[in-house]
Amino acid sequence: MVLTTTKIETIRKQFPILNQELNGKPLVYFDNAATSQKPLSVIKAIEDYYKTINSNVHRGVHQLSQLATDAFEESREVCREFVNAKSIKEINFTKGTTESINLVAYSFGRKFVSKGDEIIISEMEHHSNIVPWQILCEEREAVLKIAPINSKGELDMEAFENLISAKTKLVSIVFISNSLGTINPAKRIIELAHNVGAKVMLDAAQAAPHQKLDVQDLDCDFLSLSAHKMFGPTGMGLLYGKEEILEEMLPYQAGGEMIKEVSFEKTTYNELPFKFEAGTPNISGAIALKASIDFINEIGWDFIEQQEKALLDYGTERLTEIEGLKIIGTADNKASVISFLLGDAHPFDVGVLLDNMGIAIRTGHHCCQPLMNVLGIEGTCRASFAVYNTKEEIDRLYEGLLRAQKMLM
Ligand code: PMP
Repeated sequence: MVLTTTKIETIRKQFPILNQELNGKPLVYFDNAATSQKPLSVIKAIEDYYKTINSNVHRGVHQLSQLATDAFEESREVCREFVNAKSIKEINFTKGTTESINLVAYSFGRKFVSKGDEIIISEMEHHSNIVPWQILCEEREAVLKIAPINSKGELDMEAFENLISAKTKLVSIVFISNSLGTINPAKRIIELAHNVGAKVMLDAAQAAPHQKLDVQDLDCDFLSLSAHKMFGPTGMGLLYGKEEILEEMLPYQAGGEMIKEVSFEKTTYNELPFKFEAGTPNISGAIALKASIDFINEIGWDFIEQQEKALLDYGTERLTEIEGLKIIGTADNKASVISFLLGDAHPFDVGVLLDNMGIAIRTGHHCCQPLMNVLGIEGTCRASFAVYNTKEEIDRLYEGLLRAQKMLM
Protein backbone atom coordinates (compact mmCIF):
# COMPACT_ATOMS: atom_id res chain seq x y z
CA MET A 1 0.00 0.00 0.00
CA VAL A 2 1.48 3.36 -0.99
CA LEU A 3 -1.53 5.67 -1.06
CA THR A 4 -0.59 8.58 1.22
CA THR A 5 3.04 9.34 0.69
CA THR A 6 4.66 12.73 0.36
CA LYS A 7 5.21 11.86 -3.29
CA ILE A 8 1.43 11.92 -3.83
CA GLU A 9 1.25 15.29 -2.09
CA THR A 10 3.98 16.62 -4.38
CA ILE A 11 2.15 15.23 -7.42
CA ARG A 12 -1.17 16.76 -6.31
CA LYS A 13 0.45 20.20 -5.98
CA GLN A 14 0.99 20.10 -9.72
CA PHE A 15 -2.78 19.86 -10.30
CA PRO A 16 -4.31 23.13 -9.03
CA ILE A 17 -7.75 22.04 -10.27
CA LEU A 18 -7.83 19.33 -7.61
CA ASN A 19 -7.40 21.87 -4.86
CA GLN A 20 -10.82 23.50 -4.99
CA GLU A 21 -14.30 23.21 -3.58
CA LEU A 22 -17.34 22.31 -5.66
CA ASN A 23 -20.79 22.52 -4.12
CA GLY A 24 -19.03 23.76 -0.99
CA LYS A 25 -17.07 20.52 -0.64
CA PRO A 26 -13.46 19.71 -1.53
CA LEU A 27 -13.44 18.16 -5.00
CA VAL A 28 -12.89 14.43 -5.34
CA TYR A 29 -12.17 13.74 -9.01
CA PHE A 30 -12.91 10.13 -9.95
CA ASP A 31 -13.68 10.61 -13.64
CA ASN A 32 -10.17 10.00 -14.92
CA ALA A 33 -11.22 7.41 -17.50
CA ALA A 34 -13.21 10.15 -19.23
CA THR A 35 -10.34 12.60 -19.06
CA SER A 36 -7.51 13.13 -16.62
CA GLN A 37 -6.54 16.47 -15.09
CA LYS A 38 -3.50 18.38 -16.38
CA PRO A 39 -0.36 19.19 -14.42
CA LEU A 40 1.18 22.68 -14.42
CA SER A 41 3.99 21.53 -16.73
CA VAL A 42 1.47 20.63 -19.46
CA ILE A 43 -0.44 23.89 -19.05
CA LYS A 44 2.85 25.79 -19.13
CA ALA A 45 4.00 23.99 -22.30
CA ILE A 46 0.90 25.29 -24.13
CA GLU A 47 1.33 28.79 -22.75
CA ASP A 48 5.06 28.88 -23.55
CA TYR A 49 4.44 27.70 -27.09
CA TYR A 50 1.98 30.52 -27.82
CA LYS A 51 4.07 33.08 -25.95
CA THR A 52 7.38 32.29 -27.58
CA ILE A 53 7.43 30.12 -30.70
CA ASN A 54 3.94 30.06 -32.23
CA SER A 55 4.39 29.52 -35.95
CA ASN A 56 3.40 27.00 -38.61
CA VAL A 57 5.53 23.88 -38.91
CA HIS A 58 7.53 22.25 -41.73
CA ARG A 59 7.19 25.22 -44.06
CA GLY A 60 8.86 28.40 -42.98
CA VAL A 61 12.43 29.46 -43.54
CA HIS A 62 12.17 31.86 -40.65
CA GLN A 63 13.45 31.09 -37.18
CA LEU A 64 10.14 30.81 -35.37
CA SER A 65 8.90 28.22 -37.79
CA GLN A 66 12.11 26.26 -37.29
CA LEU A 67 11.73 26.40 -33.50
CA ALA A 68 8.08 25.29 -33.71
CA THR A 69 9.02 22.47 -36.11
CA ASP A 70 11.84 21.33 -33.83
CA ALA A 71 9.54 21.24 -30.80
CA PHE A 72 6.80 19.47 -32.77
CA GLU A 73 9.20 16.83 -34.10
CA GLU A 74 10.86 16.43 -30.72
CA SER A 75 7.45 15.42 -29.42
CA ARG A 76 7.19 12.77 -32.14
CA GLU A 77 10.50 11.29 -31.00
CA VAL A 78 9.33 11.29 -27.36
CA CYS A 79 6.10 9.57 -28.46
CA ARG A 80 8.14 6.99 -30.39
CA GLU A 81 10.06 6.21 -27.22
CA PHE A 82 6.85 6.18 -25.19
CA VAL A 83 5.36 3.33 -27.24
CA ASN A 84 8.77 1.92 -28.24
CA ALA A 85 8.17 2.15 -31.99
CA LYS A 86 11.07 1.40 -34.33
CA SER A 87 10.85 4.65 -36.23
CA ILE A 88 9.25 8.10 -36.08
CA LYS A 89 7.69 7.20 -39.43
CA GLU A 90 5.36 4.97 -37.44
CA ILE A 91 4.06 7.81 -35.24
CA ASN A 92 1.16 9.64 -36.84
CA PHE A 93 -0.29 12.52 -34.88
CA THR A 94 -4.09 12.49 -34.77
CA LYS A 95 -6.89 14.09 -32.77
CA GLY A 96 -7.00 11.02 -30.55
CA THR A 97 -8.18 7.44 -30.46
CA THR A 98 -11.40 8.08 -32.36
CA GLU A 99 -9.57 9.62 -35.29
CA SER A 100 -6.84 6.97 -35.18
CA ILE A 101 -9.36 4.14 -35.49
CA ASN A 102 -11.24 5.97 -38.24
CA LEU A 103 -7.95 6.45 -40.06
CA VAL A 104 -7.26 2.71 -40.01
CA ALA A 105 -10.85 1.85 -40.97
CA TYR A 106 -10.66 4.26 -43.88
CA SER A 107 -7.12 3.85 -45.15
CA PHE A 108 -6.40 0.21 -44.33
CA GLY A 109 -10.00 -0.95 -44.61
CA ARG A 110 -10.75 0.53 -47.99
CA LYS A 111 -7.57 -0.88 -49.45
CA PHE A 112 -7.43 -4.33 -47.87
CA VAL A 113 -10.94 -5.34 -46.81
CA SER A 114 -13.24 -6.78 -49.44
CA LYS A 115 -16.48 -8.69 -49.79
CA GLY A 116 -16.77 -11.64 -47.42
CA ASP A 117 -13.74 -10.66 -45.30
CA GLU A 118 -14.22 -10.60 -41.55
CA ILE A 119 -13.33 -8.07 -38.88
CA ILE A 120 -13.43 -9.06 -35.22
CA ILE A 121 -14.15 -6.71 -32.34
CA SER A 122 -15.41 -7.58 -28.84
CA GLU A 123 -18.52 -6.99 -26.78
CA MET A 124 -16.66 -4.54 -24.55
CA GLU A 125 -15.68 -2.02 -27.22
CA HIS A 126 -16.16 1.74 -27.00
CA HIS A 127 -18.42 3.15 -29.73
CA SER A 128 -15.34 4.52 -31.47
CA ASN A 129 -14.12 0.96 -31.96
CA ILE A 130 -17.49 -0.26 -33.26
CA VAL A 131 -19.02 2.31 -35.56
CA PRO A 132 -16.05 2.84 -37.97
CA TRP A 133 -16.01 -0.95 -38.57
CA GLN A 134 -19.78 -1.09 -39.06
CA ILE A 135 -19.53 1.61 -41.72
CA LEU A 136 -16.59 -0.13 -43.39
CA CYS A 137 -18.26 -3.56 -43.35
CA GLU A 138 -21.46 -2.18 -44.80
CA GLU A 139 -19.57 -0.45 -47.58
CA ARG A 140 -17.28 -3.38 -48.41
CA GLU A 141 -19.84 -6.14 -47.77
CA ALA A 142 -17.54 -7.51 -45.11
CA VAL A 143 -18.70 -9.21 -41.91
CA LEU A 144 -18.30 -7.80 -38.40
CA LYS A 145 -17.90 -10.53 -35.79
CA ILE A 146 -18.26 -9.87 -32.09
CA ALA A 147 -16.15 -11.77 -29.56
CA PRO A 148 -18.14 -12.39 -26.37
CA ILE A 149 -17.16 -11.76 -22.75
CA ASN A 150 -17.61 -14.02 -19.71
CA SER A 151 -19.49 -13.22 -16.51
CA LYS A 152 -16.46 -11.46 -14.99
CA GLY A 153 -16.20 -9.13 -17.98
CA GLU A 154 -13.17 -10.86 -19.46
CA LEU A 155 -12.82 -11.70 -23.10
CA ASP A 156 -13.91 -15.31 -23.68
CA MET A 157 -10.69 -16.52 -25.26
CA GLU A 158 -12.09 -19.86 -26.33
CA ALA A 159 -14.90 -18.17 -28.22
CA PHE A 160 -12.39 -15.69 -29.66
CA GLU A 161 -10.23 -18.52 -30.97
CA ASN A 162 -13.30 -20.08 -32.58
CA LEU A 163 -14.20 -16.82 -34.32
CA ILE A 164 -10.81 -16.27 -35.84
CA SER A 165 -10.19 -17.87 -39.24
CA ALA A 166 -8.49 -17.41 -42.57
CA LYS A 167 -11.30 -14.99 -43.43
CA THR A 168 -10.28 -12.61 -40.60
CA LYS A 169 -8.62 -9.50 -42.04
CA LEU A 170 -8.40 -7.44 -38.91
CA VAL A 171 -8.96 -7.73 -35.16
CA SER A 172 -9.63 -4.45 -33.37
CA ILE A 173 -9.66 -4.81 -29.61
CA VAL A 174 -9.61 -2.56 -26.59
CA PHE A 175 -6.47 -3.08 -24.48
CA ILE A 176 -8.12 -1.87 -21.25
CA SER A 177 -11.90 -1.52 -21.11
CA ASN A 178 -13.10 1.93 -20.05
CA SER A 179 -16.32 0.55 -18.54
CA LEU A 180 -15.12 -2.64 -16.88
CA GLY A 181 -11.44 -2.02 -16.29
CA THR A 182 -10.62 -5.39 -17.86
CA ILE A 183 -7.05 -5.67 -19.16
CA ASN A 184 -7.22 -7.85 -22.24
CA PRO A 185 -4.49 -10.40 -23.06
CA ALA A 186 -3.27 -8.33 -25.99
CA LYS A 187 -0.17 -10.38 -26.76
CA ARG A 188 -2.13 -13.62 -27.01
CA ILE A 189 -4.82 -11.99 -29.18
CA ILE A 190 -2.15 -10.62 -31.52
CA GLU A 191 -0.41 -13.98 -31.74
CA LEU A 192 -3.68 -15.74 -32.63
CA ALA A 193 -4.55 -13.11 -35.23
CA HIS A 194 -1.11 -13.24 -36.81
CA ASN A 195 -1.35 -17.03 -37.06
CA VAL A 196 -4.16 -16.57 -39.60
CA GLY A 197 -2.55 -13.58 -41.30
CA ALA A 198 -4.88 -10.97 -39.76
CA LYS A 199 -3.70 -7.56 -38.59
CA VAL A 200 -4.43 -6.19 -35.13
CA MET A 201 -5.46 -2.71 -34.02
CA LEU A 202 -5.18 -2.08 -30.28
CA ASP A 203 -7.30 0.66 -28.72
CA ALA A 204 -4.90 1.80 -26.00
CA ALA A 205 -6.89 4.91 -24.96
CA GLN A 206 -7.21 3.55 -21.42
CA ALA A 207 -3.97 1.57 -21.38
CA ALA A 208 -1.66 4.50 -22.16
CA PRO A 209 -2.14 6.24 -18.77
CA HIS A 210 -1.83 3.05 -16.73
CA GLN A 211 1.00 0.91 -18.05
CA LYS A 212 4.11 0.97 -20.18
CA LEU A 213 3.33 0.34 -23.83
CA ASP A 214 5.74 -1.54 -26.06
CA VAL A 215 4.49 -1.98 -29.61
CA GLN A 216 7.50 -4.08 -30.61
CA ASP A 217 7.00 -6.51 -27.77
CA LEU A 218 3.23 -6.63 -28.36
CA ASP A 219 3.82 -6.91 -32.10
CA CYS A 220 0.52 -5.07 -32.76
CA ASP A 221 0.06 -3.64 -36.24
CA PHE A 222 -1.73 -0.49 -35.07
CA LEU A 223 -2.19 1.19 -31.70
CA SER A 224 -4.07 4.34 -30.76
CA LEU A 225 -3.99 6.62 -27.76
CA SER A 226 -5.50 9.93 -26.63
CA ALA A 227 -3.34 12.55 -24.90
CA HIS A 228 -6.18 13.86 -22.72
CA LYS A 229 -6.47 10.58 -20.83
CA MET A 230 -2.78 10.69 -19.88
CA PHE A 231 -2.48 14.20 -18.38
CA GLY A 232 -2.18 15.80 -21.83
CA PRO A 233 -4.37 18.13 -23.89
CA THR A 234 -7.68 17.32 -25.57
CA GLY A 235 -7.91 16.94 -29.35
CA MET A 236 -4.48 15.28 -29.53
CA GLY A 237 -3.31 11.71 -29.83
CA LEU A 238 -1.51 9.33 -32.07
CA LEU A 239 -1.77 6.33 -34.27
CA TYR A 240 1.14 3.92 -34.26
CA GLY A 241 1.30 1.71 -37.34
CA LYS A 242 3.96 -0.65 -38.63
CA GLU A 243 5.88 1.21 -41.31
CA GLU A 244 5.47 -1.43 -44.00
CA ILE A 245 1.68 -1.45 -43.56
CA LEU A 246 1.35 2.34 -43.43
CA GLU A 247 3.38 2.55 -46.65
CA GLU A 248 0.79 0.40 -48.40
CA MET A 249 -2.22 2.31 -47.10
CA LEU A 250 -4.17 5.04 -48.85
CA PRO A 251 -3.98 8.58 -47.49
CA TYR A 252 -6.76 9.39 -45.02
CA GLN A 253 -7.40 13.09 -45.54
CA ALA A 254 -6.01 15.11 -48.40
CA GLY A 255 -4.62 18.63 -48.55
CA GLY A 256 -1.49 20.45 -47.47
CA GLU A 257 1.38 18.68 -45.63
CA MET A 258 0.47 15.20 -46.93
CA ILE A 259 1.62 15.86 -50.49
CA LYS A 260 4.99 15.76 -52.19
CA GLU A 261 4.00 17.44 -55.46
CA VAL A 262 0.66 18.60 -56.74
CA SER A 263 -0.33 19.35 -60.29
CA PHE A 264 -3.79 19.35 -61.83
CA GLU A 265 -2.83 16.15 -63.62
CA LYS A 266 -1.33 14.17 -60.74
CA THR A 267 -0.45 14.39 -57.09
CA THR A 268 2.24 12.43 -55.28
CA TYR A 269 2.08 11.88 -51.55
CA ASN A 270 4.51 12.87 -48.85
CA GLU A 271 6.53 10.29 -46.97
CA LEU A 272 5.56 8.87 -43.62
CA PRO A 273 4.49 10.12 -41.16
CA PHE A 274 3.36 13.26 -43.04
CA LYS A 275 1.29 11.23 -45.51
CA PHE A 276 -1.39 10.89 -42.81
CA GLU A 277 -1.15 14.43 -41.42
CA ALA A 278 -3.06 16.65 -43.83
CA GLY A 279 -3.41 20.31 -42.90
CA THR A 280 -1.89 22.39 -40.14
CA PRO A 281 -1.54 20.04 -37.16
CA ASN A 282 -2.30 20.61 -33.49
CA ILE A 283 1.17 22.02 -32.81
CA SER A 284 0.63 23.13 -29.22
CA GLY A 285 -1.16 19.82 -28.60
CA ALA A 286 1.85 17.81 -29.74
CA ILE A 287 4.19 19.91 -27.60
CA ALA A 288 1.90 19.50 -24.59
CA LEU A 289 1.67 15.75 -25.23
CA LYS A 290 5.44 15.62 -24.88
CA ALA A 291 5.12 17.48 -21.57
CA SER A 292 2.56 14.91 -20.37
CA ILE A 293 4.88 12.03 -21.29
CA ASP A 294 7.75 13.78 -19.49
CA PHE A 295 5.46 14.07 -16.48
CA ILE A 296 4.66 10.32 -16.56
CA ASN A 297 8.32 9.41 -17.02
CA GLU A 298 9.28 11.60 -14.09
CA ILE A 299 6.84 9.83 -11.77
CA GLY A 300 7.83 6.46 -13.24
CA TRP A 301 5.70 3.46 -14.24
CA ASP A 302 6.58 1.46 -11.13
CA PHE A 303 5.11 4.11 -8.87
CA ILE A 304 2.05 4.71 -11.08
CA GLU A 305 1.24 1.01 -11.27
CA GLN A 306 1.80 0.46 -7.57
CA GLN A 307 -0.33 3.43 -6.56
CA GLU A 308 -3.16 2.59 -8.96
CA LYS A 309 -3.21 -1.03 -7.84
CA ALA A 310 -3.41 0.12 -4.22
CA LEU A 311 -6.29 2.46 -5.11
CA LEU A 312 -8.10 -0.31 -7.00
CA ASP A 313 -7.66 -2.81 -4.15
CA TYR A 314 -8.70 -0.36 -1.47
CA GLY A 315 -11.61 0.99 -3.53
CA THR A 316 -12.86 -2.53 -4.27
CA GLU A 317 -12.56 -3.51 -0.62
CA ARG A 318 -14.48 -0.46 0.63
CA LEU A 319 -17.20 -0.54 -2.01
CA THR A 320 -17.74 -4.25 -1.43
CA GLU A 321 -18.55 -3.44 2.21
CA ILE A 322 -21.65 -1.57 1.07
CA GLU A 323 -24.67 -3.82 1.20
CA GLY A 324 -26.48 -4.08 -2.10
CA LEU A 325 -23.61 -2.57 -4.10
CA LYS A 326 -22.64 -4.70 -7.07
CA ILE A 327 -19.36 -4.30 -8.92
CA ILE A 328 -19.73 -4.70 -12.67
CA GLY A 329 -16.51 -6.09 -14.12
CA THR A 330 -14.47 -8.34 -11.86
CA ALA A 331 -11.73 -9.45 -14.23
CA ASP A 332 -8.67 -11.06 -12.65
CA ASN A 333 -6.48 -8.61 -14.52
CA LYS A 334 -7.99 -5.18 -13.99
CA ALA A 335 -7.03 -1.50 -14.18
CA SER A 336 -8.05 1.18 -11.67
CA VAL A 337 -11.66 1.49 -12.84
CA ILE A 338 -14.62 0.40 -10.71
CA SER A 339 -18.04 0.23 -12.33
CA PHE A 340 -20.89 -0.48 -9.96
CA LEU A 341 -24.61 -0.41 -9.29
CA LEU A 342 -26.02 0.73 -5.96
CA GLY A 343 -28.98 -1.59 -5.42
CA ASP A 344 -31.79 -0.61 -7.78
CA ALA A 345 -30.85 3.08 -7.73
CA HIS A 346 -30.50 4.70 -11.13
CA PRO A 347 -26.80 5.50 -11.76
CA PHE A 348 -27.76 9.05 -12.75
CA ASP A 349 -29.40 9.68 -9.34
CA VAL A 350 -26.34 8.31 -7.55
CA GLY A 351 -24.09 10.52 -9.67
CA VAL A 352 -26.12 13.66 -8.92
CA LEU A 353 -26.16 13.01 -5.17
CA LEU A 354 -22.41 12.37 -5.12
CA ASP A 355 -21.86 15.53 -7.14
CA ASN A 356 -23.71 17.47 -4.45
CA MET A 357 -21.09 16.11 -2.04
CA GLY A 358 -18.23 17.28 -4.31
CA ILE A 359 -17.51 13.80 -5.71
CA ALA A 360 -17.23 13.53 -9.50
CA ILE A 361 -17.92 10.08 -10.91
CA ARG A 362 -19.25 9.05 -14.31
CA THR A 363 -22.67 7.52 -14.85
CA GLY A 364 -24.31 6.02 -17.92
CA HIS A 365 -23.26 3.67 -20.70
CA HIS A 366 -19.72 5.09 -21.01
CA CYS A 367 -19.99 5.02 -24.82
CA CYS A 368 -20.43 1.23 -24.61
CA GLN A 369 -24.17 0.84 -25.29
CA PRO A 370 -23.81 -2.64 -26.87
CA LEU A 371 -21.89 -3.80 -23.76
CA MET A 372 -24.68 -2.51 -21.51
CA ASN A 373 -27.19 -4.44 -23.65
CA VAL A 374 -25.12 -7.60 -23.20
CA LEU A 375 -25.05 -7.00 -19.44
CA GLY A 376 -28.78 -6.29 -19.44
CA ILE A 377 -28.40 -2.91 -17.73
CA GLU A 378 -28.85 0.70 -18.79
CA GLY A 379 -25.58 1.88 -17.41
CA THR A 380 -23.33 1.94 -14.36
CA CYS A 381 -21.71 4.33 -11.92
CA ARG A 382 -17.99 4.45 -12.60
CA ALA A 383 -15.18 5.61 -10.35
CA SER A 384 -11.85 5.71 -12.16
CA PHE A 385 -8.63 6.50 -10.36
CA ALA A 386 -5.40 8.22 -11.37
CA VAL A 387 -2.06 8.35 -9.62
CA TYR A 388 -3.01 11.61 -7.81
CA ASN A 389 -6.03 10.08 -6.07
CA THR A 390 -5.88 9.12 -2.40
CA LYS A 391 -7.21 6.69 0.17
CA GLU A 392 -9.05 9.57 1.89
CA GLU A 393 -10.88 10.33 -1.34
CA ILE A 394 -12.02 6.70 -1.57
CA ASP A 395 -13.28 7.01 2.02
CA ARG A 396 -15.28 10.09 0.92
CA LEU A 397 -16.79 8.03 -1.91
CA TYR A 398 -17.67 5.24 0.52
CA GLU A 399 -19.37 7.63 2.93
CA GLY A 400 -21.07 9.46 0.06
CA LEU A 401 -22.50 6.20 -1.24
CA LEU A 402 -23.86 5.29 2.18
CA ARG A 403 -25.60 8.67 2.34
CA ALA A 404 -26.90 8.32 -1.23
CA GLN A 405 -28.21 4.88 -0.36
CA LYS A 406 -30.18 6.27 2.59
CA MET A 407 -31.69 8.98 0.40
CA LEU A 408 -32.58 6.72 -2.51
CA MET A 409 -33.81 3.58 -0.80
N1 PMP B 1 -11.62 3.89 -26.59
C1 PMP B 1 -11.72 3.86 -25.26
C2 PMP B 1 -11.49 2.58 -24.54
C3 PMP B 1 -12.01 5.03 -24.57
O1 PMP B 1 -12.11 5.00 -23.23
C4 PMP B 1 -12.21 6.24 -25.29
C5 PMP B 1 -12.56 7.52 -24.57
N2 PMP B 1 -13.54 7.38 -23.59
C6 PMP B 1 -12.09 6.21 -26.68
C7 PMP B 1 -11.79 5.01 -27.29
C8 PMP B 1 -12.26 7.44 -27.50
O2 PMP B 1 -11.23 8.33 -27.21
P1 PMP B 1 -11.28 9.85 -27.72
O3 PMP B 1 -12.63 10.38 -27.34
O4 PMP B 1 -10.17 10.50 -26.98
O5 PMP B 1 -11.07 9.82 -29.18
